[in-house]
Amino acid sequence: MRSALGLMLASVVAAIVIAGVWFWTSSPRADAAPPQTTAAAKAEPLAAAAAKQAARDDVETTAALSKRADATQAAAPAAAPAPAPAPVAAAPRCANPDALGISRTVVVDTTGGPGFGFLQYKQYDFLTDHEVVLTFDDGPWPTTPAVLKALADECTKAVFFPIGLHTTYHPDILRQVAAAGHTIGAHTWSHAHLASKKLTEQQAKDEIEKGFSAVKLALGANPAPFFRFPALAHTPATTAYLGTRNIAMFSVDVDSNDFKSKSSDEVINNVMTKLDKEHKGIILMHDLQKHTAQALPTLLRKLKAGGYKIVWMKAKTQIETLPEYDAMMAKTEKPIATGRPIGNVVQTIAD
Ligand SMILES: [Zn+2]
Repeated sequence: MRSALGLMLASVVAAIVIAGVWFWTSSPRADAAPPQTTAAAKAEPLAAAAAKQAARDDVETTAALSKRADATQAAAPAAAPAPAPAPVAAAPRCANPDALGISRTVVVDTTGGPGFGFLQYKQYDFLTDHEVVLTFDDGPWPTTPAVLKALADECTKAVFFPIGLHTTYHPDILRQVAAAGHTIGAHTWSHAHLASKKLTEQQAKDEIEKGFSAVKLALGANPAPFFRFPALAHTPATTAYLGTRNIAMFSVDVDSNDFKSKSSDEVINNVMTKLDKEHKGIILMHDLQKHTAQALPTLLRKLKAGGYKIVWMKAKTQIETLPEYDAMMAKTEKPIATGRPIGNVVQTIAD
């Protein structure tokens, strides 16, 4: 009888031990989970997320792209250490609670001249499904402020590639682009076709450097080392040169073909149709095109409705322009018209 009771007691103890082990191993353990702050943010209630979206017109996540961030690593983001979320600074609030906004900000290490945009450069597949980058070429132009307004209304940011010569016509408009906080690179001095046989290697280099120095002169600050070849016409020599200058090259994934479009609807259709196929990518537009400026408010709404998210590309460090080209550009500078008559600014009070 005593041994039977002992056996029963032993069975009960064993059952408790087994149940305890099962509970311990199968219950969720906070210490075993990776520190995923971004996942936690996604799981928050919808109302809180919406409120956060309203405040998020600036940096949400900052991920560094480096030479090591090749396609293999990009395909396995879990392997990369999760960057600490950027502190939410006193950035201006977004007045539009339903804005497209910015879903992710990336900082590009331009060392060695990385290329982006799969039409030509396939090294860095950093965008995930439905992520797009907005880029605008050929400004600054009188059409540019309408583009800036459309972007501001949606609390989102883009990358601009101005033409050097145009910055001498409209330096004030380029300064508006900078004041709005967008990334500004360069797109040569005179929009020369750098793959043309008529251009020497030196002339191609001059086009690149004068473009950056012209932007610097207009801004009073160094631009991002981001470059787009006019007509995307690169050569082994020019890409090698950009590499030595640590300038990133931008090609395209989704071409709006806005310079050929006859209406704003055509621009919108071109982008949305290509995105249906590509699902993500760098979108090429021109802030100099009237139809693009007109299309942008609707296009940005359609991107939002289609579940597309904006990735904003910034440079880790700005370019150091070359002094000889800065000096060359300084000679082209015209007196800046402020709109105030001289008599209102400088008055003779005694002679
Ligand atoms: Zn262009």
